[in-house]
Amino acid sequence: MYDEIINEPQWHEECGIFGIWSKTASVTDVCYLGLFALQHRGQESAGIAVTDGMHVDIAKGMGLMTEAFRPRLPGITGHCAVGHVRYSTVGGSVLANVQPFLASFSGGFISLAHNGSLTNAQETRRRLENAGCIFQSSSDSESILNLIAVSQAPTVEEKILSSLEQIEGAYSLVIMTGDRLTGVRDPHAFRPLCLGRLEDGYVLASETCALDAVNATFVRDVLPGEMVVVDRTGVHSYFLQKKARRSSCVFEYIYFARPDSVIDGVSVWQSRYLMGRRLAREYPAAADVVVPVPDTGIAAAIGFSAESGLPFVEGLIKNRYVGRTFILPDQTKRKATVEMKLNPVQANLAGKRVVLIDDSIVRGTTSARLIALLRRAGATEVHMCVSSPPITHPCYYGIDTSIRRELIAAVSTEEEICRKIGTDGLHYLSLQGLLESVGDGMGERMCTSCFRGDYPTDVSECLAEAGI
Ligand code: AMP
Repeated sequence: MYDEIINEPQWHEECGIFGIWSKTASVTDVCYLGLFALQHRGQESAGIAVTDGMHVDIAKGMGLMTEAFRPRLPGITGHCAVGHVRYSTVGGSVLANVQPFLASFSGGFISLAHNGSLTNAQETRRRLENAGCIFQSSSDSESILNLIAVSQAPTVEEKILSSLEQIEGAYSLVIMTGDRLTGVRDPHAFRPLCLGRLEDGYVLASETCALDAVNATFVRDVLPGEMVVVDRTGVHSYFLQKKARRSSCVFEYIYFARPDSVIDGVSVWQSRYLMGRRLAREYPAAADVVVPVPDTGIAAAIGFSAESGLPFVEGLIKNRYVGRTFILPDQTKRKATVEMKLNPVQANLAGKRVVLIDDSIVRGTTSARLIALLRRAGATEVHMCVSSPPITHPCYYGIDTSIRRELIAAVSTEEEICRKIGTDGLHYLSLQGLLESVGDGMGERMCTSCFRGDYPTDVSECLAEAGI
């Protein structure tokens, strides 16, 4: 057990976070609903911590929200709560790593939920361990808790700020202390975080779809390097001293976020639609129909169809009760799950030249299986169009895009990829096309390191860990 928890390899996490502060109401159910709207960001475990200011209760478990909280939800009636859904793809799934983390320190108790990955996690942890700190999990997020606990700064706000000056990488956080809710976004603003208003309080969430789920009114996105604190007197804003070039994750728009969310003022659905339009201009395929890989390829396929004039048809039907295929650790299981999850509609494919639209190719497993399925259903040609550029570098900021040698575009030429996935034509959206599709000039302020390897922070620790 010790080995499993402490010595497992560092994993990449994809997560959703939610926090609520209310003057009067009991917030547990609202927190549950908000988190439920973020289920797409993590299906492996979930947790909620609630406080009434005096007492604190936490419930967490493995699996989807419905499974994780089947035994119980936090039992106390409280005014503040933080929640987390998590999806990790490497390493053991153990309850010790499930967030939020809860601990007590000189300032009372503290509960924290983190979305993102730190790029100086090992160095930070080693330093804390050498200073006598003890850890219960292998998560980098626990280091943040320890940094706050050992800080000599006079107030909780200053303890949090001084701790965050010591870490690097991606972190959007929700933190609950006795009487207040705190939200933080790292200076690069890698991962999203927004603020919403309720009749009698405020919420913080990874995505606006969670605000909609709890009838909160969108107030604003938390700014890069900003810490917002909600308490009885309202919302207070502080800033980290560390300044950085804004590098919000472009993959949120391509794949990860829900299409009904708006991140930093840009609609995720609209971005995907524009990526599809741009793809059609870049690759005017001679074809009969446009088929999306559901669900994340749908908006881009609608855009491709609108631009090209080719009809949009459903060529693949998704069994919505099968989880995301990516999560399965071995390749054989992953292959089987693709077929369990997607089945072709012969009536829309037989005798047709098909443009197949997916949001991304990572390892190439999904595309190879789907193209074979379409051919078996009678498609005469399949042209694979991808609404993002080739992924050539791993993400160290909280999206699991696999390790480098598993990334098909890192180890193969486009010609080889065509052969491996069995397509008649392959087109990836150009980087410029991608950046121009993410509206309002946001494109230029995005992290594109999975396409270019131009990591905005020092990632030497991550590279060393990967043996590079
Ligand atoms: P692959 O089979 O490895 O090429 O995976 C590509 C498929 O996985 C695409 O259909 C994407 O929608 C999906 N995908 C891309 N990135 C991720 C991710 N980080 N986690 C889970 N699924 C992903």
